[in-house]
Amino acid sequence: MDLGLKDKLIVVTGGAAGIGGAITRACLAEGARVAVIGRRSQNAIAFMDEMNSSSSACHFVEAELEDLSRCESAIKEILAAYGDIYGLVNNAGINDGVGLEKGSVERFVESISKNLTHYYALAHHALPSLKKTQGAIVNISSKVALTGQGNTSGYAASKGAQLALTREWAAELLPYNIRVNAILPAEVMTPLYRRWLDTLGDPKAELARIEAKIPLGHRMTLDSEIAAAAVFLLSPTQSGHTTGQHIIPDGGYVHLDRALT
Ligand code: NAP
Repeated sequence: MDLGLKDKLIVVTGGAAGIGGAITRACLAEGARVAVIGRRSQNAIAFMDEMNSSSSACHFVEAELEDLSRCESAIKEILAAYGDIYGLVNNAGINDGVGLEKGSVERFVESISKNLTHYYALAHHALPSLKKTQGAIVNISSKVALTGQGNTSGYAASKGAQLALTREWAAELLPYNIRVNAILPAEVMTPLYRRWLDTLGDPKAELARIEAKIPLGHRMTLDSEIAAAAVFLLSPTQSGHTTGQHIIPDGGYVHLDRALT
């Protein structure tokens, strides 16, 4: 199946690890070009070395996304170096555990800056280019937007706002034929998830307990399964009439009857 992504430029934030890394791989496999925006870490360097060993279509733009002027200059840099942007995948974020009781107002605001503000900033600065390409935006949200988690107000607020903005931008961008959709992962093994698991008393037992509650196959969702949803939502040929949607590839974790687990 031709997804129509060949040579199109896709920007993936946090695209050198975890879910973003899987989306980068999937886009490259479809013949797209990818500009990864993220922090330069040992892991990011190793990921980019691996991508560049088999493709010249993957580029790294170092940026701390909490720095909003850097969000603007990163988009400018990408446009100057690689041309117009067809796809924007807003993915970078962190479940930083700023609770209502245990958090503070200052930490709540910081959490919004880590998880939400850069989604708007990048979409805003990429918009003139997306208008030219009649491109697509995919926002990576979370099941936490629908279910809550407890002790993570900033993250939950950001993830919920991403769903609202997905509908809002889908409506605003109709005249430009720009589609905007969201994906809500639930349980995906990534560096972020591993770090969270390792904070728990018995990570192995905790993982087994979580997996047992996932209805389809009693297993975690693969990062490649999230990436498959992302390339579908980016595809002008396959999802050309799909906009404002919230897709939940989670093995039925959020919606199916608890009695099934
Ligand atoms: P991850 O393993 O931590 O990967 C995220 C990547 O984004 C990392 O490379 C990280 O860099 C980068 N990043 C994060 N904040 C950044 C910032 N402010 N500036 C620049 N780069 C930044 O996370 P993940 O689990 O793949 O999560 C990706 C998305 O999926 C997030 O939006 C998350 O909320 C969502 N999600 C994940 C799950 C899950 O089960 N994993 C479930 C629901 C939703 P560093 O490595 O330097 O931190």
